[in-house]
Amino acid sequence: MTNETWGHVRGELMKSIGKNNFSAWIEPITFDSFEDGTVRFRVPAKFIGSWVSQNFGDVILRHLISAGVGADRIEFDVDAKANGAAGNANAAPASEASAAPLTNGDARPSRQTGGGNGGGTDLPGPSLNPAFTFDAFVVGKPNELAHAAARRVAEGGPVSFNPLFLYGGVGLGKTHLMHAIAWELQTRQPQLRILYLSAEQFMYRFVRSLREKDTLSFKEMFRSVDVLMVDDVQFIAGKNSTQEEFFHTFNALIEMGKQIVISGDRAPVDMEDLDNRIASRLQCGLVVDLHPTDYELRLGILQAKAEVYRKRYPDLQIAAGVLEFVAHRISTNVRVLEGALTRLFAFADLIGSEITMDLTQECLSDILRATDRKVTMDEIIKKVCEHYNIRQADLLGPSRARNNARPRQMAMYLCKTLTTRSLPEIGRKLGRRDHTTILHGVRKIEELMAVDSQIAEDAELLRRMLEA
Ligand code: ADP
Ligand code: MG
Repeated sequence: MTNETWGHVRGELMKSIGKNNFSAWIEPITFDSFEDGTVRFRVPAKFIGSWVSQNFGDVILRHLISAGVGADRIEFDVDAKANGAAGNANAAPASEASAAPLTNGDARPSRQTGGGNGGGTDLPGPSLNPAFTFDAFVVGKPNELAHAAARRVAEGGPVSFNPLFLYGGVGLGKTHLMHAIAWELQTRQPQLRILYLSAEQFMYRFVRSLREKDTLSFKEMFRSVDVLMVDDVQFIAGKNSTQEEFFHTFNALIEMGKQIVISGDRAPVDMEDLDNRIASRLQCGLVVDLHPTDYELRLGILQAKAEVYRKRYPDLQIAAGVLEFVAHRISTNVRVLEGALTRLFAFADLIGSEITMDLTQECLSDILRATDRKVTMDEIIKKVCEHYNIRQADLLGPSRARNNARPRQMAMYLCKTLTTRSLPEIGRKLGRRDHTTILHGVRKIEELMAVDSQIAEDAELLRRMLEA
C-alpha cells in the first residue's frame, strides 16, 4: 500500500462519510505503514485514533480492501508533530458546496435553482447548500460591507451594481454569501432563472461543449439565465479559451441587464493571469472584500453554531470561557473554527462529559498547535513595547523600574500563553533571564489579571492584536 492508495481511499471515504466528518476526523490522520495485514496511521492526538477506529474503522477497512489492500486491521499511533485540520486550512477546498457544517454528511437536497415556471430547460449546476442562508450568516465588522452588498442584490430590485464581486481569503464566507443570495432571490422571485456554479464547473462545461461540438447550446444556456453566479473565478485565470468564453458570456448578460455575482480569492487587479478585459469589467461593478475575521466575529459565529449544536445534543454543557478561548486561539478561517466545534461536540458526546477547558485543549491540540506557530516572540516584544510605549532596550534590559518590569512580565506571560516556547527559551529571548524569573513573571501577571482590571484589559487587548 502506498500514499497514493491512501489518497484514493480518502477520496472514497469523503464520499461515504460526508465532508464534515471527513474534515473533522480523517483529514488529521496520515498513512504510516502497511505490514502483516495491519495498516498503521499517525494521529495528532490519542482520542482521534479511538474515535476514528470506533466510528469509521469498518468503513476504512472496507475501502482499503476494495482498493486492493490485503488489510485485516488498522492501528493508530500518536504523532506529536502531526499537523491536522488547521494545517490544511489553506488547501483549496475540494468542493465548496459540500462544506456544510451542520447538515448530516452530504445529504443535501438536490434542490435546483431556476426553471421554476415549468417552461424552458432546467439549468444544470450544483445544488445550493441549505445551511448557507442569510439567517445563518453572522455579521461583524470584517464582513459587514460584503453582507450588505449581498443583501442588496438578494432583494432583487433593479440591478444597481453589476457585477457584484466578492473577494477574500479561504473560508471567510464568499460561497456562503453567494448561496444566501440565491436562496433569497429564489424565495422572493421563484420565476427567476438563477445559475450558481464554480468557475471550475464553468470551464468543465465549456470544454465539454467544445468536445461535443455543441458550443451553441452552451452559449444559449448561459445567456438564458437571469442571475449568474460564478464562484472562485481565480480558477480560470490563465486558462485562455475559457476566459475568452467567460468574457463573452459576461458581456452578453450585462448588456441584457442581468445580475452577475462573482467571487475570487483576491481583487481583480491582483489576479495576475486574469484577462485584463475581464479585470476591468469586474472593476466596473461593486467590488467588496471579506476581511479576515476578528475576535468578536469569531466569538459570534461560535455562539451561533453552538446554539445549533445545543439543540442536537441537548444534554451537553459547555463550560464558561470555552468559546472565548477557541475564538482567541483559532485564527481567521471560519471553516477551521467550525471543524473545531464539530469535533468538540462529537468528542464530548462520545465520552459523555461537559465541554471543559481541559477537554477543549486536548481535543483541539493539533489545531491549537498549528495556530500557535503564528505568533512569534519577536512580535510579542514589539507589540508590548508599542502598547506601553517603552523601548525594546528597556524591556529586554536590566531595569527593575515598575514601568519597565510590568511590560516585561506581560511579554513573559504572552510568550508563555501564545507560543509553544519553553520557559528557558523565553528567558533567553527576553534579555537572557533565568527560567524561574520567567515563571515568576507569568504567575505575577496571572495573579494581577484576577484583581487588576487594567492588567486584564492590557493582556486581552495585546492578545487580540497579536492574533488578529
Ligand atoms: P469561502 O467560500 O470564502 O472559502 P465559505 O463561504 O465556504 O468560505 O465559508 C466557510 C465556512 O464558514 C462555511 O461553512 C460557512 O457557512 C462558514 N462561515 C463563513 N463566514 C460565516 C459567517 N459570517 N457566519 C456564519 N458562518 C460563516
Ligand atoms: Mg468558496
